[in-house]
Amino acid sequence: MNYHAIAIDGPAGAGKSTVAKMLAKRLGYVYIDTGAMYRATTYKAMRLKINLENAEEYSFLETTEMKFIEDVLYVDGEDITKKIRTNVVNQNVSLVASHIPVRNELVRLQQKIASEANVVMDGRDIGTVVLPKADLKIFMTATVEERARRRHEENIANNIESDYQKIYKDIERRDKIDSSRAYNPLRQAEDAIYLDTSHLDIDTVSEVIYQMFMKIIKDNKE
Ligand code: C5P
Repeated sequence: MNYHAIAIDGPAGAGKSTVAKMLAKRLGYVYIDTGAMYRATTYKAMRLKINLENAEEYSFLETTEMKFIEDVLYVDGEDITKKIRTNVVNQNVSLVASHIPVRNELVRLQQKIASEANVVMDGRDIGTVVLPKADLKIFMTATVEERARRRHEENIANNIESDYQKIYKDIERRDKIDSSRAYNPLRQAEDAIYLDTSHLDIDTVSEVIYQMFMKIIKDNKE
C-alpha cells in the first residue's frame, strides 16, 4: 500500500509543529516531529558524555530505540518530552544535527515510519531529502521577531522560564547553522509551497494546507 505524506519544513518557531499536529489530528494521520529526534539524540549524547563535536561517537544511535506513541517520543522506553526542550539541548542540537552519521540514521528511521503509515512530518529536510515524493510540501516561515515572540508566549503558557532576547538570539543562531551546514541544509524544495505565516493565525494556516491537501488527493483519484 502507498501511504500519504505531508512534508512541512521551515526554520525554528515558524509554527510547523502546531500546524502539523492539527493536520494530523484532522486527517487521522501520524504526526512525526523530526526536530524531537535530533533533540533526543543530543540529550542522549550528553547523557553518555560523548564528545559532541566528533561525528564518529554517535554509533549509540544504532542501538537506540525511538518510537512515537500519539505525538510523544519515547527513547529506549523513556518519555523524554520535557528533557529535550531545555536550554542546553537548544544550544547543542544544531551541532549534533550537522553530523552526517546522525542525519543518515535519523533519516532512515523517518523514512521507515513513513513507509508504514500516513504521516504529517515536520523538520528541515523533509521535502528535500526524507520524503521527496510527499503528496504536499510546505515551506513555512515567519520573521525572526514573530517566531521569537511565539516561542516566548508558548513558554509562558507552559510555565517554562522565558527570556525574549535569549530566544531571539538562539533562533537566529540556529537558523544560521541549519541553513549553512554542508549536508542536507534547511532549504525549500523546488516543488514546495512557500507560506509566510508572520501575519496569519495558526487556524488559517492549517485550514489552507488542509484544503490544498484534499484537492491533491481528489485530483489524484480522478
Ligand atoms: O524543530 P526543532 O526546532 O525542534 O529542531 C531542533 C533542531 O534539530 C533544529 O534547529 C535543527 O538543527 C535540527 N533539525 C534538523 N533536521 C530536521 C529537524 C530538525 O537538522 N529535519
